Amino acid sequence: MTPALCFGHSRALPEGIEVTFESAEPGENGSNASVAAPALQVYDMVLQAVGRTPNGKKLAAEKAGVAVTDRGFIIVDIQMRTNVPHIFAIGDIIGQPMMAHKAVHEAHVAAEVIAGELQGNKELAAAAFNARVIPSVAYTDPEVAWVGLTEDQAKAQGIKVKKGLFPWSASGRTIANGRDECVTKLLFDDSPEAHGHGKILGGGMVGMHAGDMIGEIALAIEMGADAVDIGKTIHPHPTLGESIGMAAEVAHGSCTDLPPSKK
Ligand SMILES: Cc1cc2nc3c(=O)[nH]c(=O)nc-3n(C[C@H](O)[C@H](O)[C@H](O)COP(=O)(O)OP(=O)(O)OC[C@H]3O[C@@H](n4cnc5c(N)ncnc54)[C@H](O)[C@@H]3O)c2cc1C
Repeated sequence: MTPALCFGHSRALPEGIEVTFESAEPGENGSNASVAAPALQVYDMVLQAVGRTPNGKKLAAEKAGVAVTDRGFIIVDIQMRTNVPHIFAIGDIIGQPMMAHKAVHEAHVAAEVIAGELQGNKELAAAAFNARVIPSVAYTDPEVAWVGLTEDQAKAQGIKVKKGLFPWSASGRTIANGRDECVTKLLFDDSPEAHGHGKILGGGMVGMHAGDMIGEIALAIEMGADAVDIGKTIHPHPTLGESIGMAAEVAHGSCTDLPPSKK
């Protein structure tokens, strides 16, 4: 596929999706020169991926005194309060990651603070958004899900981590499902201060239903669990979730379910 072109039109035909292209002028679509449109083509599938931007500049929020950044975001504090104390904002408009599960938790905080202040309920009014992590999922096949620190981030931040990698080829469930090509990975704090009992800092999975399972790793991070906590938590067999317990055992050095290493 030729890069840096404008998508023209598409239409579904019995033999596939017919796509036409438009030429790109210099400066369009990241190209420095003109790019001539290729001939019409027919594809099995077309993936359209577009970015999202906040609409803060289109709300006239500044008329209410609400500060909006140059990029259209509205700044809030951990109670979701804008610079105008009785105006709150949540969701995509307050920043990344732009995801529904972040927005709904932020909305709960804003609603609790407002209700608490109206009712004179100090506990409710003290609500704040203080999640340690927000999981992400790519709903692809196989699914990709991750939460917390990644190996690259740990490296960049100079954080020593111990990795537990459990290949799904050692999982009875994935073998039965015929989808054993995937992995579960957990990262634990391996700094000297952790004295070998480091808390979980992040994790990721590639495989079917990864998005359904990433919440367990998010919970483990929120609760400050270590490899023993997770590994000794009994996961039912044979399930995909077992791979999380076993990845923790791998990090701990006590996993008895790995295939023999190839010589
Ligand atoms: C195609 C697509 C797929 C996505 N898939 C996922 C996913 O799988 N998982 C996930 O977590 N997130 C996903 N998202 C992101 C998710 O939809 C957003 O993060 C979430 O909806 C943000 O909630 P919000 O309340 O901030 O904004 P919105 O849900 O966009 O709500 C804003 C509301 O404000 C209204 N509005 C806008 N301007 C005005 C105005 N001037 N006056 C009055 N009303 C106004 C809009 O009509 C809208 O109803 C996806 C988004 C898109 C576009």
